[in-house]
Amino acid sequence: MKALRFTAWKTKPSLQEVERPSPAPGEVLLKVAGAGACHSDVAVYDQFDESTVGPQLAPAYTLGHETAGWIEEVGEGVLGLTKGDAYLVYGPIGCGHCAACSRGQDTYCENAAQTPFLASGLGKDGGMAEYMTVPARNLIPLGDADPVAAAPLADAGLTPYHAIKLALDKLQGGGKTALVIGLGGLGQIAVQVLKATTAATVIATDMKPEAMELAGRRGAVTVSGGDAQAERIRELTGGRGVDAVFDFVGLTPTIQLAQKVVAKQGRITVVGIAGGPVQWDFYSNPYEAELTNTYWGTIEELHELAALYRDGHIEVDVTRFSLDHALEAYEHLEKGTLLGRAVVVPHPDAPAAATDAVREQVAMGV
Ligand SMILES: [Zn+2]
Ligand SMILES: [Zn+2]
Repeated sequence: MKALRFTAWKTKPSLQEVERPSPAPGEVLLKVAGAGACHSDVAVYDQFDESTVGPQLAPAYTLGHETAGWIEEVGEGVLGLTKGDAYLVYGPIGCGHCAACSRGQDTYCENAAQTPFLASGLGKDGGMAEYMTVPARNLIPLGDADPVAAAPLADAGLTPYHAIKLALDKLQGGGKTALVIGLGGLGQIAVQVLKATTAATVIATDMKPEAMELAGRRGAVTVSGGDAQAERIRELTGGRGVDAVFDFVGLTPTIQLAQKVVAKQGRITVVGIAGGPVQWDFYSNPYEAELTNTYWGTIEELHELAALYRDGHIEVDVTRFSLDHALEAYEHLEKGTLLGRAVVVPHPDAPAAATDAVREQVAMGV
């Protein structure tokens, strides 16, 4: 089968012919429906080397940590899964037995230093291939919802969902406001999650007019950049400030904007990994305003997000690429020429949702 492989540090990935894997006990073989291309893949193959990251990310492996697909085969001991059904893949894979993993938060595995990889597509073979193996525990049911558009939910959806869940106590009740800075793939999903899970007024800002228009159609009040940006946002809160700010960029000016508009006892979550430094001292932020970062999310949260998607609350903007054109997806991503997420589709002719014709009971637990 074909797979997009990361083979050496500071080297672009390449399409290679590899053996189709077999599921180990406790795993399933997934026929990949869609695999999202993510900016952190670019960091992996362009920026990192053994001096900057741990051995878990060392090449070689197949990229793709935002994947959805159909069950093709089940490994020994796997119960209750049916061939042809569509699932989303929770990427992180921790030790499975520490306190963090036991609550489905493999991202913060206490034994991460000893694990052989971080996630499917980050150290372990991921979804930029015709097939991949996945621990059955990491599968999230998609029902009849389209698995191709669902793929980015595994990271571009779960990351904002987790950040919003952690800020929900700031947004409960009437008269609250949230601000989304940066309306790429993650920011567009954040607007929709905020609309679906809170009664807050959602304010959104971005440099691209078409991204602002899309967020406006999804119920956000949009504010453009420029000198009066912070004042305009404060006005929209009645002068109180924003209860929860989500910065999907993470540059110095965007974090400074967040500091200017956050309310007393509000919360700023920096989600974007641009790494901009900012000054913090006792007087720089309003009283008791929190400033924090965040990383990916939990298995349980991905179940919740997938339910919102199945129920029609979340649309994911995707541009499809064949596996043969997967490198072009990354070129567009690097140039920033896509609105939404690039998704590689290895089986373009497969029916999107599971139907009775493709459902086929397979021997379970053997
Ligand atoms: Zn990612
Ligand atoms: Zn663990």
